[in-house]
Amino acid sequence: MMSEPHIVIVGGGFSGTAVAIHLLREATSPVRISVIEPREHLGQGVAYSATDPAHRINVPAARMQLAGDEDGAFDRWYRRYGDFPQDPFAQQPDGSVYPQRGAFGRYVEAAFIDVAKAHGNRVAHLQERAVDWQAGHIVTSTGRRLRADSVVLAVSHPPPRLPVAVRALAHHAQVIANPWQAQALSAIPPDGRVAIMGTALSMADVVASLVRQGHRGEVMAFSRHGLLSRPNAPTNLPKWPGDYLTGTLRQRLRQIRADIVRANAAGLPWQVVLDAVRQQGQDIWQRMSAGEKRQFQRHLRRFWDVHRYRIAPQGAQAIADKRRAGTFRHFAARLRTLGAQSPGLRLNLILRGGKSHQETVDYLVLTTGPDHTDLIASQPFLHALQQAGLIRPDPLGMGIEVDISSQASPQIWVAGPAARGRFGELMGLPQVADHAQQVAQNVLETLGCRQLVLS
Ligand SMILES: Cc1cc2nc3c(=O)[nH]c(=O)nc-3n(C[C@H](O)[C@H](O)[C@H](O)COP(=O)(O)OP(=O)(O)OC[C@H]3O[C@@H](n4cnc5c(N)ncnc54)[C@H](O)[C@@H]3O)c2cc1C
Repeated sequence: MMSEPHIVIVGGGFSGTAVAIHLLREATSPVRISVIEPREHLGQGVAYSATDPAHRINVPAARMQLAGDEDGAFDRWYRRYGDFPQDPFAQQPDGSVYPQRGAFGRYVEAAFIDVAKAHGNRVAHLQERAVDWQAGHIVTSTGRRLRADSVVLAVSHPPPRLPVAVRALAHHAQVIANPWQAQALSAIPPDGRVAIMGTALSMADVVASLVRQGHRGEVMAFSRHGLLSRPNAPTNLPKWPGDYLTGTLRQRLRQIRADIVRANAAGLPWQVVLDAVRQQGQDIWQRMSAGEKRQFQRHLRRFWDVHRYRIAPQGAQAIADKRRAGTFRHFAARLRTLGAQSPGLRLNLILRGGKSHQETVDYLVLTTGPDHTDLIASQPFLHALQQAGLIRPDPLGMGIEVDISSQASPQIWVAGPAARGRFGELMGLPQVADHAQQVAQNVLETLGCRQLVLS
């Protein structure tokens, strides 16, 4: 008798857990699934394991759900089963809710538990790490060896890269290299002077956390270009009808700028135009030449990112409040050297334009974000797969190279932002959710476990 196919998912953050859910929901013949994930809870990963109440999702809950679920599924779940009644800051004046990020992780975990129960013992969570690939087997941190018919890599976010200037003081008690760790900021006193390296969403998380813990001291945030993530617009605005699928990169840019002017003239904010671009993002990316993609990465990506990934209203408010109190500023600069002095840290910065500048602070917090350029080198398991010729880095330095079905090699699939080099717009939850479903369907079809319904 042939045994059922075994699918191993490495990484049980949102992507890996969503793939498992769709595999179970959509298989038309039995499959066996193992999810290797060292965290205790599935569905959380880097983003949704946040325990700080100040860390919120950055789009309204109504826009986040598993693919295939009814629109607004998470919003309804949150209002009914989540901590909505106990969270006075979740709801905005337009009625939308921005829950704490952990709530979304719990919603995904609950969906996983439901579907796993319905499918008996076909899915197992192995609370360990994949550490090696030997003779066609995944080797885990407990020494377990697993053979798989298909492997789905869902390992998106590597740790942030330590900037060269910080390396010598990486373990200094006043250098906080990983602000996502629970209680990472708790040692900072209310009047401590804080420098934050990075000016995007994680910086906003840090400021929101500091405000929540009663911080009144000075905060300065800097990055090479000094670009701050922008705030969200109200949710009840009409959809912008722009079509950005054709033209060169330059022509598209011109069209987007012209449309923002037209939208403003119609009383609509730029966000409606950018949302229309985002919705066509994967198609636009596929139509761009390799040269245009490189140009985009080099010159436009930083502008796109701060307009595309927006700050939750509560985080934007925390920054605005501190700015009003004269305790927040941001600027464009690069860190040349970092020195320890008693007490505190001395930052030697080069301001944009070339001038030297010094700051003395009590704490330095790094919010430079996950380092996707070196994803494969970031862990031995991926390195071993590369050595075996099964995966390779994406040529644009965005993760792992895959084909249009998100396959890296016949047995290996990639789910989530690590496949961004092929799909472009694959970071925000709605796209990552659709992608996870697509990967699950492709895996099942390849294994002959999903019948196509022909209409
Ligand atoms: C801080 C942050 C906040 C975000 N907030 C939002 C938001 O509010 N709204 C939105 O739309 N999008 C948001 N995003 C983007 C998006 O939702 C995430 O990128 C998405 O959740 C990706 O999940 P993932 O499972 O692919 O990756 P990850 O969350 O990185 O999960 C990967 C998992 O793989 C595991 N893993 C890694 N290596 C191994 C190994 N060798 N063996 C076993 N397990 C392994 C890790 O433990 C981890 O749990 C956010 C992203 C981040 C980083």
